[in-house]
Amino acid sequence: MKKKILACLLILFPIFSLGIAKADTVKSKYIIASDSSFAPFVFQNSNNEYTGIDMDLIKAIAKDQGFEIEITNPGFDAAISAVQAGQADGIIAGMSVTDARKATFDFSDSYYTANTILGVKESSTIASYEDLKDKTVGVKNGTASQTFLTENQSKYGYKIKTFSDGSSMYDSLNTGAIDAVMDDEPVLKYSISQGQKLKTPIAGTPIGETAFAVKKGTNPELIQMFNKGLANLKANGEFQKILDKYLASGAATTSTITVDETTIWGLLQNNYKQLLSGLGITLALALISFAIAIVIGIIFGMFSVSPYKSLRLISEIFVDVIRGIPLMILAAFIFWGIPNFIESITGQQSPINDFVAGTIALSLNAAAYIAEIVRGGIQAVPVGQMEASRSLGISYGKTMRKIILPQATKLMLPNFVNQFVIALKDTTIVSAIGLVELFQTGKIIIARNYQSFKMYAILAIFYLVIITLLTRLAKRLEKRIR
Ligand code: GLN
Repeated sequence: MKKKILACLLILFPIFSLGIAKADTVKSKYIIASDSSFAPFVFQNSNNEYTGIDMDLIKAIAKDQGFEIEITNPGFDAAISAVQAGQADGIIAGMSVTDARKATFDFSDSYYTANTILGVKESSTIASYEDLKDKTVGVKNGTASQTFLTENQSKYGYKIKTFSDGSSMYDSLNTGAIDAVMDDEPVLKYSISQGQKLKTPIAGTPIGETAFAVKKGTNPELIQMFNKGLANLKANGEFQKILDKYLASGAATTSTITVDETTIWGLLQNNYKQLLSGLGITLALALISFAIAIVIGIIFGMFSVSPYKSLRLISEIFVDVIRGIPLMILAAFIFWGIPNFIESITGQQSPINDFVAGTIALSLNAAAYIAEIVRGGIQAVPVGQMEASRSLGISYGKTMRKIILPQATKLMLPNFVNQFVIALKDTTIVSAIGLVELFQTGKIIIARNYQSFKMYAILAIFYLVIITLLTRLAKRLEKRIR
């Protein structure tokens, strides 16, 4: 009898626990994070859509299993952070299953096997790891290749330079800023098949299986669905079709380009929609964050000249703390740090997207500087005026409003314009959290066509024109207020 009950429990327990895990955690939509340039697994085609084995695979699996997905492409390192911070549910990015990662990720069944391999320019004389002594090897941050390089660094004596994305790494190799790169073999081989003048002089080293992953202990049903879907696609031949689409000779390429992208005109013609949408995000970021910053900045600026010591102290702490933290770290902290912390306590995913996080970071940053501008402006008005007015029996508030602020505002205006220009340029820094503003848009386009000279020139001109126009406008406004 006892044995029977035990057997029943043993059979029922997994069924129950499975049932509960599923019912509890199924979401109406799953956010999947991926790399931004890692062809043939994920890359942008000439229509600026993300394609590649991983993109096709996850879409096919979602369709097969009947779940909704939304894909984001912030880059490998950022995608890993997004999953760890609970901002994405899963990652598919040619990701290798390593023992270290198993501590923080749950992996699906494998869909590919890859080596890491060294790539050098066609003309390079590097033929072995020993030849790398005192040379610089580039690698993407957070990758298995980086682990390999770090582990073998003392043995071969090379320097390591890390990059946040593949395009800047390959650009640096092409321009000679680094002597070699370490990347997944299918990726290097693919770029060579696409006409990159590179070679792989040393045989690759296995870095394990490639699989889909979720944060350890979360979304178990997503892994189950991925595995089931993958098995179905393998059985019905669709998986092979996806591989063939990108890997067979004559396969889909990064450069099925209709317009010649080697000229500035061609680049603009083929990418103007992307660039304009990036510009829109840049402007929205700058304008919204600056408007918020003015409000916060004025409040703290007024605090800093207040007769109350406590208010002055609050303002001082705010300015010191925000000014003392680099903007990039502030943005990363708001976008990845805080959500990761909240999720670890409440289990709730962060509602903050990259735009909101970027806006908050930019607002706080500019507010600290504006508070100082306000303080400086008010303090530049001779103290005698306040004293004289107060001795006539006029209140502090009224003296401020009627006598001090009108004069101080005039002194502050040029600094406000200056601060706005800085705020607009600072938007490029928050692209680090994967926000696709103008700068990131340019980088993504370069990842596809390697036209870094012309593309960065276009970006520089875009910013120059916008900033010149806006400063002109601001100067006019300034005159009017005066
Ligand atoms: N396969 C490598 C890794 O998992 C690189 C992945 C990538 O760069 N997208 O580390």
